[in-house]
Amino acid sequence: MRSCNGKNRKAVKEGTWGPEVSDWSNIDVTAALQLLETDADHGLTDEEAAQRLAKYGPNELTEAQRRGPWLILWEQLTSVLVLILIAAALLSAIVSDYKDAIVIIAVVVLFATLGFIQDYRADRAMAALKKLAVPVVRLCRKGTIREISARFLVPGDIVMLEAGNVVPADCRLLECFNLKVDEATLTGESLPVEKAASILELEHPALGDRHNMLFMGTVVVAGRGRALVVGTGMRTELGRIAEIIQDVPSKYTPLQLRLDQLGKTLGVMALAVSAVIFGLGMMRGEGLTLMLLTAVSVAVAAVPEGLPAIVTVTLALGAQRMFKRQALIRRLPAVETLGSVTVICSDKTGTLTENRMTVKVIDVAGHRFDLSDNVACGSPPTLHQGESETIQTITRDRALSLLLTGMALCNDAVVRPDVEEGEQETLGDPTEVALAVAAARAGLWKVELDTALPRVFELPFDSERKRMTTVHQLSSTSVQAYQGLAIICHADAELREPYVAFVKGAVDGLVLRCSKAVVEGRVTPLTAALAEQITSANDELAGRGMRMLGIAARPLASVPFKIHHEQLERELIFLGLVGMIDPPRVEVKNAVQTCKTAGIRPVMITGDHPLTAINIARALGIMDHGRALTGTDLDQMSAEDLCREVEEVSVYARVSAEHKLRIVEALQDRGHIVAMTGDGVNDAPALKKANIGVAMGITGTDVAKEAAGMVLRDDNFATIVAAVEEGRVIYDNIRKYIKYSIAGNIGKILVVLTGPLVGMPLTLLPLQLLWLNLLTDGLLGLGLGVEKAESSIMQRPPYQPAEGIFARGMGRHIIWLGPFIGLVALGVGYWYWQSGDNHWQTMTFTTLSFLQIGQALGVRSDHDSLFSIGIASNPLLLTMALLSFLLQIAVVYFPPLQFVFGTQALSLADLGISLGLSSLVFLMIESEKYALRRTSTRALKHSENSGFPKDLSWKSVEK
Ligand code: ATP
Repeated sequence: MRSCNGKNRKAVKEGTWGPEVSDWSNIDVTAALQLLETDADHGLTDEEAAQRLAKYGPNELTEAQRRGPWLILWEQLTSVLVLILIAAALLSAIVSDYKDAIVIIAVVVLFATLGFIQDYRADRAMAALKKLAVPVVRLCRKGTIREISARFLVPGDIVMLEAGNVVPADCRLLECFNLKVDEATLTGESLPVEKAASILELEHPALGDRHNMLFMGTVVVAGRGRALVVGTGMRTELGRIAEIIQDVPSKYTPLQLRLDQLGKTLGVMALAVSAVIFGLGMMRGEGLTLMLLTAVSVAVAAVPEGLPAIVTVTLALGAQRMFKRQALIRRLPAVETLGSVTVICSDKTGTLTENRMTVKVIDVAGHRFDLSDNVACGSPPTLHQGESETIQTITRDRALSLLLTGMALCNDAVVRPDVEEGEQETLGDPTEVALAVAAARAGLWKVELDTALPRVFELPFDSERKRMTTVHQLSSTSVQAYQGLAIICHADAELREPYVAFVKGAVDGLVLRCSKAVVEGRVTPLTAALAEQITSANDELAGRGMRMLGIAARPLASVPFKIHHEQLERELIFLGLVGMIDPPRVEVKNAVQTCKTAGIRPVMITGDHPLTAINIARALGIMDHGRALTGTDLDQMSAEDLCREVEEVSVYARVSAEHKLRIVEALQDRGHIVAMTGDGVNDAPALKKANIGVAMGITGTDVAKEAAGMVLRDDNFATIVAAVEEGRVIYDNIRKYIKYSIAGNIGKILVVLTGPLVGMPLTLLPLQLLWLNLLTDGLLGLGLGVEKAESSIMQRPPYQPAEGIFARGMGRHIIWLGPFIGLVALGVGYWYWQSGDNHWQTMTFTTLSFLQIGQALGVRSDHDSLFSIGIASNPLLLTMALLSFLLQIAVVYFPPLQFVFGTQALSLADLGISLGLSSLVFLMIESEKYALRRTSTRALKHSENSGFPKDLSWKSVEK
């Protein structure tokens, strides 16, 4: 261990894994860096980092709450279904029917295994997705700044944090500007704490007093800082209390809870039916044991016991499919909510547009500089030092040069020339990268400017003020080197203010803070006419779809540490306007169209200028007519007024995070299910309030991601639409399974219940019922869960959350199909029984089994015929159907299985009759779909002829 001073030494002792320091806040920065054998400017090397990662392990908390495989198995074995079956097996064993007991136990094992595999798969799938949600951290290794997953942080790393970051590990601050951290998770303190890098010198300070420390899991709400990682994973303050704060979100989604309720209702009904069957059997003088077993089996047959497992797997696999389409689901309920979304509120920059900014126009007091010839559109051009002569000609204009200097200095982007072969390095917010690239093309390299005019203070950008300010130290050499500065600073050091502040931000707010402007290379008072000229230039360029920024400056006599932004950002000298283009994403136009046909309204909510917003919204088809509301308009509106307006307005501009919250609330008051995107810290409340919060994966802050139910890995609006489609598919598939399972169960119950009523002996044996359940709920149900999207999936209105599960014709379908299945199976059994054929029971049993295979093929689509969607388009279901058929044949013809299931070999003619009758159900379902298709085409034609718009909102559905 390296040496450290006496004060430091008391907090340090040799530990088994390197320096074990009880309190890093009492150690000065140099000593802390020495202890961790790292360097403040260069960080660790990759080799050192790899060694430390091997030594300390990944930076993650061990999950206490995670269900292990044993727990999942236990949950399976103790489910009501399994308990009922175990009771049935015991009952059989007691009455010495060992054959049945063994088979029932075999079925128990099979069900439990199947359930276990499905549950385990779902659990792993979600755990894998959760791992992918780990935040990315900006750090310095080997002298370069890069971004890595927070999992790979090690003690000794130097990290850069800014507003919106969740602190990824315990850190000792090296430097910070205006840094405020919300430590409520750790200390309970509700107000953000101001941080400073200075040494503490307090004996045993409380966590809340350690102003130079940052703790894992707390949130940076303002400012930025650089910090040294001192503890990772479980060796952090959070690690110590990990078990306490790990939130255990409800395992079940609203749909799952509703289905659970449905399952219980059906269970009670099944018990009632069992009691009836038991009573009837006893009255007819059947044996007590047989009747007990039958009653239990009927109960088992009636409950769609595969439901919970199928739903869990369908949701989890759906979440995985969504991930492949770039949407990361953070909370399972989000999957089903997506299917019901009626409004998608989206940010503009990066979501609807590409976030590939390029400076196109610079306007200095009416002088326009068109940069489009020099700066290629689209991705930032690769820069070579010395290549900038073309623009150098325009930088002979000192006013332009000053503006470009401000653009590069008041900027946090990293733009380095490609000194050697290889890529030019750009890192940071695309707006800032574009500004720094434009300056660099004029020969004003940010790295050089930063050295000549060191930054001594800053007020970071925040989306409320829509501005950023940096203060720089001036020297005679810098004023001489960068001649534009002479416009606002005297060349003589004696006469000059020693500092200069550069401010950049939204033009409307900035102009109000300016008292002077640079015109014709000279500082002049900002008259009303001049301000008007700037505003109309700004509006004109914004109207052409450009993202606008204004740049201003102010010489300063002293560095205003501890100053409110109002005091610094005033009496500014306006330097000029910058117009950037950010092209709309090509795929978004189609996605917007898809939304409209799917009954979903896309809404743009942006911090940008209303004219820029309207231009982009029109180009994308989000806004055809009507007006945009601004944040100022919203401030003047009551909640009721807003509630009235939200149905009409599709563009909100110059809004802040609070406005987003109000818009969500107003839309929800109108009964909408709202998806809302967001990226900043302040967006968190709106993301939480929305029915589904959607965070940006690339540009989003950690806070936004944590508040959201879904993260867009590519920040793309089209991904939200794709996720909505997946959500609908999942909901559809769950409904298909329910209608399949319930109609089939009704059929089975009717067979068992009505048989004795028409004088027949027990129509189906308990084991035969269990077998049918295994085929339908276990195999075929699983196949239905992975059905592909219906062709009309995005051409119909969203599911209304309050809409019952049996809505949209499902109840009607079950009501006719269940009895139909029962009738066919019982009919064939009765016919054979009447004619004295002792194969009657095997015929009933086999026909029921084939009927359910035909039913599964028929219900694959709610609307389209099986032949148009393709028999092989769901390979899993096709395999399951074939497997079920072969297994049933085995049960009928394989003697050991005949013995177990009480079946007899059927003649080929009998088998043919059974298959023929079973195909009836398939034909009936296809006819139902045909009729539905005809009715909907006629309705569509009618609505087109009558001139009514094709309204897909819920109201039209309700009508
Ligand atoms: P969206 O909400 O659609 O993403 P946005 O990105 O334009 O819109 P903000 O980032 O809040 O919204 O920006 C609002 C305004 O703030 C912009 O129009 C611009 O004038 C200004 N602005 C944006 N980025 C910066 C920045 N880095 N520094 C200074 N001002 C900025």
